[in-house]
Amino acid sequence: MSEHKISPSLEMAREKLVARKIELEESLAQSAQEKFSDDQVQDPGDQALTSTMESLRTSLQDSQLEDYNRVVQALEMIEQGTYGICVDCNKPIAERRLISFPNATRCIACQERFEENNVDQI
Ligand SMILES: [Zn+2]
Repeated sequence: MSEHKISPSLEMAREKLVARKIELEESLAQSAQEKFSDDQVQDPGDQALTSTMESLRTSLQDSQLEDYNRVVQALEMIEQGTYGICVDCNKPIAERRLISFPNATRCIACQERFEENNVDQI
């Protein structure tokens, strides 16, 4: 009974994140498999193309992996009750921002201030 209750909108966000996580998992597993079958077909004439495709796929995989990590982190934040709440001003983070950065810990205004302060320190 002491567990914090998840609001309907948070529950919806969580369902979306879980669906996105599964999608990314499948896509990452598929890329890994494609890479494996490519290794077996080594045509010297296609080397250049293959390596171009390879680096394209790797960067795609990297961004998918980043996305995946963000989603995993966001799901943890939902469990902890910190999802979608700015750590600086305690206000809800804009939904548009959460779509691109589900693991955002600051609203846009606080994030900008935070980055400005960080630049000053460097
Ligand atoms: Zn804020």
